[in-house]
Amino acid sequence: MKPLRFLTALWTLLLLTGCGDSAATAEEDLPCRTEVMAMDTIMTLSVYNQPAEEGMEVLRKAIVCIEELEALLSVTDENSEIYQANHAGSSPVPLSEDTRELLEEALALCGETGGALDVTVYPVVRAWGFTAGDYRVPEAKEVSALLEKVGYDRAELDGDRLTLPEGTELDLGAVAKGYTGDRLMELFREAGISSAIVELGGNVQALGAKPDGESWRIAVQAPEGGYAGVLEITDKAVVTSGGYQRYFEKDGETYIHIIDPSTGYPARTGLASVTIVADSGLLGDGLSTALFVMGREKAEDYWLSHPDFEFILLEEDGTAVITEGLEGSFSLFGDWAGRPLEVVRREALHTQ
Ligand code: AMP
Ligand code: MG
Repeated sequence: MKPLRFLTALWTLLLLTGCGDSAATAEEDLPCRTEVMAMDTIMTLSVYNQPAEEGMEVLRKAIVCIEELEALLSVTDENSEIYQANHAGSSPVPLSEDTRELLEEALALCGETGGALDVTVYPVVRAWGFTAGDYRVPEAKEVSALLEKVGYDRAELDGDRLTLPEGTELDLGAVAKGYTGDRLMELFREAGISSAIVELGGNVQALGAKPDGESWRIAVQAPEGGYAGVLEITDKAVVTSGGYQRYFEKDGETYIHIIDPSTGYPARTGLASVTIVADSGLLGDGLSTALFVMGREKAEDYWLSHPDFEFILLEEDGTAVITEGLEGSFSLFGDWAGRPLEVVRREALHTQ
């Protein structure tokens, strides 16, 4: 972690950590809450139904967990395992249990999505300037040369040893926050907490229901700002990937940060955002990126053959699409309230 980042984290911690009431008892519905800067985003963690002391203790552990994961997974920190692997010159590097587990699951998801998610697309992301903010449109021949080194199947994971061929680089940015959410839920559950919610940038993950037993109400962002809808969930991860989250404009064209690994160019599929609702944060995070790359039709096909998630697509033309499992728990909101909401059904897709 860079010194500046550490200072920021410390300040945020000092300023914003606290419980709703210092004398809160287990019966009360007030949260203990903290905010922390990590993984290039602001994270908010809230645990409910805890006496202040225990609540604060578990939040401190949660921050340590986040910082440990960031230290392992950062693509820019020279001490991270991912950095070490990316700069090992095709020698094997040993991985910790966390990195191995995340990488193994991420690689499986890259395969399952047919490479729409590809954790080795990093050199291309960097060429477009999305890693450092020095945006540029690379020449076609630069992109095709970089693509030769891209391919999740080039990463060789043998037990806890990872080998990357020269020129191939890993970036787990598309799944790291999702995995972190899963780890936090595990930590909260082990601490005996039954009601908690975390916001990790575009990822929201909830343990159980609100302390009053009601569902959590999660706002889904509108691409143009404000909110497009509200989703009611219990015990789920809700993860959004949107073109509006990071992009630049050049000569009247907009270039977004989600890259189609088959072309090396920003994904352009008519989608403004993809929100995934799943039990697993890692799955939600990986699929939000992958389904954005796939576009609506392929995303529907993927959903049809995978029963473990639901989605909300916001299309650039202003249409919202949800899978049938979210009917009744999602509603459009604000400027989006009058717009078309299409429901995708397994039955209908099967008979098409
Ligand atoms: P997310 O915000 O979870 O959708 O992840 C997007 C980030 O992952 C981008 O900012 C890139 O650093 C990286 N990325 C972009 N396209 C892909 C892709 N197709 N597969 C894996 N990672 C990607
Ligand atoms: Mg993602």
